Amino acid sequence: MPALPETLAPRLPSPTQEAHDSAFTARNVRLTLKRDDLIHPEIPGNKWRKLAPNLRSAAQSGHHTLLTFGGAYSHHLRATAAAGRLLGFRTIGVVRGEELAARPLNPTLTRCAADGMRLHFVSRSAYRHRADPETEADLHSRFGDFLLLPEGGSNAAAVHGTAALGAELTEPGTVAVPCGTGGTLAGLAAGLGEGQHALGVAVLKGGFLTGEVSRLQHSAFGAPCGAWRVEDRFHCGGYARTTPELEAFAQEFEERNGLRLERVYVAKMLLALSHLAREGAFPPGSSVTAVVTGAPAG
Ligand SMILES: *Cc1c(COP(=O)(O)O)cnc(C)c1O
Repeated sequence: MPALPETLAPRLPSPTQEAHDSAFTARNVRLTLKRDDLIHPEIPGNKWRKLAPNLRSAAQSGHHTLLTFGGAYSHHLRATAAAGRLLGFRTIGVVRGEELAARPLNPTLTRCAADGMRLHFVSRSAYRHRADPETEADLHSRFGDFLLLPEGGSNAAAVHGTAALGAELTEPGTVAVPCGTGGTLAGLAAGLGEGQHALGVAVLKGGFLTGEVSRLQHSAFGAPCGAWRVEDRFHCGGYARTTPELEAFAQEFEERNGLRLERVYVAKMLLALSHLAREGAFPPGSSVTAVVTGAPAG
């Protein structure tokens, strides 16, 4: 039987760290980093929080194989592959982009393959139908028994896992997370208490997140939970896009605070918070906790 995730000695609760940024200092707003990136070196941040409950139920229900979905740069695929190697699951990654099969693998997919993940490349149009019941039936006839995790690992169990993040935070004020699928925000908001509200910074263009977070909360809790909102203005052009402003901000923040920032999600969230602070979105004397949801690949 595969091992339980607890055997990997996650650093929980994750530590917090006081941070410094001129926009916050100017407004007299306190900025704290919640260092979820330090939970586990290979399954960091929200990937740990979302995978752990799924890994537990997979092990307990006798599944030996995990199948999941992602793009060529997916942190979720990487974390799933690492968890498979460390705990003794077979893993299958359904990857968006048929053409990738004919090219040398990028560093993310190389790492997945080295961890033993079987990569199954599908066209973009087939990938769009990943959640259809027929797709799952096809995958079962090809790969046999597996536990299916949706893209980004965001299912009801994952949302319960990220509620534990909210429960670790007691400081009143805003708690911010960067959002891809919205699974982390959905759980975080539910786990917060009185006087706290969650702010999700979308790193993708499209404005679909509010609906997705509501849907995920319904599937996990049966109803909307907690105080939360989505900020859609700071995607910097879309997923994994960058701007000279984002890069300059990230480098300065890194130097000032002595940590390296993951660029696709974490740096974008911090830049968004810095703009919001400058706009006066946080009252003087209040507190903002920014969740460092992942670490730079390295
Ligand atoms: C995957 C990921 C996210 C996105 O989380 P969702 O639950 O999909 O919104 C945020 N930050 C980092 C660092 C990630 O790797």
